[in-house]
Amino acid sequence: MTTPTPYGNESTAAPVEPHRVLVLNSGSSSVKYQLLDMRDRSRLASGLVERIGEETSRLVHTPLTGGGGGAGPRERTGRIADHDAALKAAAEELAADGLGLDSPELAAIGHRVVHGGLKFSAPTVITDEVLKEIERLVPVAPLHNPANITGIRTAQALRPDLPQVAVFDTAFHTTMPESAARYAIDVETADAHRIRRYGFHGTSHAYVSRKTAELLGKAPEDVNVIVLHLGNGASASAVAGGRCVETSMGLTPLEGLVMGTRSGDIDPAVVFHLKRVAGMSTDEVDVLLNKRSGLVGLCGDNDMREIRRRIEEGDEQAALAFDIYIHRLKKYIGAYAAVLGRVDAVAFTAGVGENSAPVREAAIAGLEEFGLAVDAGLNAVRSGEPRLISPEYARVAVAVVPTDEELEIADQAFALVESLRPQGLGQVDN
Ligand code: ADP
Repeated sequence: MTTPTPYGNESTAAPVEPHRVLVLNSGSSSVKYQLLDMRDRSRLASGLVERIGEETSRLVHTPLTGGGGGAGPRERTGRIADHDAALKAAAEELAADGLGLDSPELAAIGHRVVHGGLKFSAPTVITDEVLKEIERLVPVAPLHNPANITGIRTAQALRPDLPQVAVFDTAFHTTMPESAARYAIDVETADAHRIRRYGFHGTSHAYVSRKTAELLGKAPEDVNVIVLHLGNGASASAVAGGRCVETSMGLTPLEGLVMGTRSGDIDPAVVFHLKRVAGMSTDEVDVLLNKRSGLVGLCGDNDMREIRRRIEEGDEQAALAFDIYIHRLKKYIGAYAAVLGRVDAVAFTAGVGENSAPVREAAIAGLEEFGLAVDAGLNAVRSGEPRLISPEYARVAVAVVPTDEELEIADQAFALVESLRPQGLGQVDN
């Protein structure tokens, strides 16, 4: 007997409950992907296509627990013309592992979408109207949303029958009160141009704040956490009882902490000064603050490993860059402690937060009055697991909590699709 599934596939075998999710993170010249099995939330494969459109494109595909698992990464080099070709190449690699995207086991494709504005506070099944709204947000996310849209269109063409789910970087921050979200500028101008603080890295802040509560053995509702997401991009958030009440990135990911290549907070008059006095164009200032500032602007390196190595060799420029980075971080910890009133935990995450013991030690040093301390022995332990690094006597827990944005996107996309799916495949032809 032929069994129609809710996704339009036809199968003569026993119906397979769709249980896989493909997560896509599409950048302007790259696509990262992961395929997960949501029955045990294991990763079946992951991959990266970079330098799309150039002669030197590269695809690295890593089979994991599923088909081909343990075989090690495979690489393709040579021009991959566009996102369409990139996704097709990824699909071929997955198919070679027995994980083809045409499989009825695929339940959804989850897309990381950077800017969801105020409208999207939860994962959303992508319809034409949703796609139009993501397009309307391009002026506030000119670098990211166009690439995300391309990724969505490409995936839709590949599997038009499948639910495509957008998971927004901004969604977790939509709970911020107006007092935190509004800039103190003319309200009419702000509203006309949708100028307000949206925040980013929300999927990571949501995941890490929840995991931190779990680590403390408490419900998210009972815990106040300061999350420090320190990657190449970096942001802090204050999460009260599971809800974000403040975050350091604003209209764009430029505001807040010192980052790999971005300045973070700066007097906006610096922009007028650079234009009027230094004769720079708007685009030049944009590039300066987004690409040639932060750690790279201060010392020429944005990789914290390299900066620490230089400091150990006595490099003063690297030491000053590190001090500026830490100073800003401390200011945010103090500010967010004041915003929250009571802090239960400070959680470090992302590339720097998870791996750099010196950054964690320096950021918390001198904050004993706030109940914060780091145990040197615990801080030195290297592990991929969530862990506490504060001494037992400390009033506030300090934790290292590895982030997992792909798992969070897959969880959110799958939960949404499951909630919309008719229960049991046998019932759909009633
Ligand atoms: P993003 O996703 O923003 O590109 P990641 O979260 O992957 O960034 O973080 C990348 C950064 O993490 C690198 O630029 C580097 O500074 C830092 N990093 C990675 N590994 C280590 C390490 N072992 N020690 C210190 N810093 C590290």
